[in-house]
Amino acid sequence: MSSGELVIEDLCAGIPGREILKGVSLTVRSGEVHAVMGPNGCGKSTLAHVLMGRPGYEVLSGRVTLDGVDLLALPTWQRARAGLFLAMQHPIEVPGVTLVDALGAGRPDVPADEVGPQFKPVDERLAEQADRIGFDRRFLERPLNVDLSGGERKRNETLQMTVLEPRFAVLDEIDSGLDVDALAAVGRRVLEATAEWGLGVLAITHFRRLLDVLPPDVVHVMADGKVVATGDRSLADLVDKSGYAGYR
Ligand code: ADP
Ligand code: MG
Repeated sequence: MSSGELVIEDLCAGIPGREILKGVSLTVRSGEVHAVMGPNGCGKSTLAHVLMGRPGYEVLSGRVTLDGVDLLALPTWQRARAGLFLAMQHPIEVPGVTLVDALGAGRPDVPADEVGPQFKPVDERLAEQADRIGFDRRFLERPLNVDLSGGERKRNETLQMTVLEPRFAVLDEIDSGLDVDALAAVGRRVLEATAEWGLGVLAITHFRRLLDVLPPDVVHVMADGKVVATGDRSLADLVDKSGYAGYR
C-alpha cells in the first residue's frame, strides 16, 4: 500500500480580477478521508479546479505538492499521472471519446504513445470495476457521459477513479444526484479504496449524509475562501445541526 501526502499550503487563487481562495492549507495523508464542507459559493469547487489545473483559474500564491512533487507546475494530464484524480461536481459530456480512451491517458503505467482503445488492461479492469459499482456495462462503449443521468455520471466518476487507482482523489459533491442506494454504493467503494491501495480522499460536500457512508477522519469547514474550522466527525454533526451561519 502506498503512503504519502497531498499538501496544500496557503493557497491563494481565483479568476482574473477576483481572488476566491484566500489562503487554504490542509494536508491529506494516504488512506485518510478528509471532508470539506461549506456554504454555496465559499470556493470548494474552485479549490478542486485549481488543484487539477482547470484553465481559467490562476494561482496567486501558495504551494501544492503530492509526495513532494510540485503539482502547480504541471499540466492537468501530468497531475493525473502524478496521482491526482478529480471527480467533477458536474461531469461533462465528451462526444467522440470513450471511457477507455479517456482513462488510458491518466494511468502512469501506460506509455503516452500506447494510450487508446487497444489498451486491454484498462478494458478488463473497467468491466470488473463497473460491476463492483453497479455501473451498467452497456455504458462503457458509449461516448463519455453522453445521455447519462446525473446519478449515472457520478457512478461513472467513481468507476474512473477505481480504474485509475490514483494516490489522492478530490470528490466534488460526488453525492449530488445520487439516490440513497447509489450513495451507499459509491461511499462504500471509495472507503474500500482507502484500504485497498491507500487512497487519500478530499470529499467536498454540503451534506452530512455522504459522511454517514464515507466516515471522514478529518472535517474542514470552509467559508469565504478559507478553512475556518477543522475537527473530527463531530464537526460535521455540528454543521448539520446549526448550519454554516456561525462560520460566515
Ligand atoms: P462552491 O463550490 O463552494 O459552491 P465555487 O468555488 O464554485 O463555490 O465558487 C466560489 C465563488 O467564485 C462563487 O461566487 C462563484 O460564482 C465564483 N466563481 C467560481 N468559478 C468561477 C468562474 N470560472 N468564473 C466566475 N466566477 C467563478
Ligand atoms: Mg461547488
